[in-house]
Amino acid sequence: MKKEWIIYLDGEFVKQSEAKISVFDQGVLFGDGIFEGIRVYSGTVFKCEEHINRLYDSAKMIKIEMTMSKEELTGIVLETCRKNQIKDGYIRLVVTRGLGDLSLLPKEKHKPTIFCIACSIILYPKEMYSLGMPIITAVQRRNRATILDPQIKSLNYLNNILAKIEAEQAGVQEALMLTEEGIVAECTGDNIFIVTRGVLITPPIHVGILAGITRNTVMILAKEMGIEVIEKEFTLFNVYAADECFLTGTAAEIISVREVDKRVIGDGEAGPMTKKLLKAFHEYAQNNGMSIY
Ligand code: PMP
Repeated sequence: MKKEWIIYLDGEFVKQSEAKISVFDQGVLFGDGIFEGIRVYSGTVFKCEEHINRLYDSAKMIKIEMTMSKEELTGIVLETCRKNQIKDGYIRLVVTRGLGDLSLLPKEKHKPTIFCIACSIILYPKEMYSLGMPIITAVQRRNRATILDPQIKSLNYLNNILAKIEAEQAGVQEALMLTEEGIVAECTGDNIFIVTRGVLITPPIHVGILAGITRNTVMILAKEMGIEVIEKEFTLFNVYAADECFLTGTAAEIISVREVDKRVIGDGEAGPMTKKLLKAFHEYAQNNGMSIY
């Protein structure tokens, strides 16, 4: 029988089959909410504080008033992991604006709906990390930051979902998204890095991307390793001509890209810098999380 996860939902721990939210919830009706995806490595929550901080920043940006402190919410995340005996896994923490009345903004003062799932993780196939994954560039452009800032990790992922459908239809698992001006932004669920003549380059946040926690970790690790890291705008030209390309994300970690739009990047397989960073990232992730047990 399939394992039933224990879910935290609005002050209670309930079985997965009983964890239900109302059809009047703003998150369901309008994607009016925010979330985080977090990893557990060896019984520790990776970058817990950073994820909680990002969640609270997203809440502030969309004017959801959090009803509990960061410490309380962290406690809930840890307890959800304990209840499910998670040693290595994935956490999904979600906050919606709460119950509404079908209008865009509920008339009564809302109380956010909060739930937390801690479960196992589905990763890309192992061989992709050494052979690299093929991706395409989506026709769908990334949301413009002045309209709906991708820094907000909101429940409204339609922009990314449309690009992900393009990837699926092209027979690949990720799609690169550009800004309206044709500047490389990020993938549907991952940030992007390229390596050109030994320099690690990634788009700056202001281009309109999520400030990825893995992205930040990779930049710190790279600098510690003496690698030059630059945040600057670049185009598809620079991606196609790069020596290496990889994506970063909580679920993907660091995954090499072998082709973009059927153009082979560098030698195709994971390059030396990608491999070095992936090794450093694994070591770091095993030893730097917040203890659950
Ligand atoms: N960009 C987008 C659009 C994402 O949804 C994510 C998270 N899945 C990322 C980048 C990577 O961010 P993080 O490293 O914090 O998981």
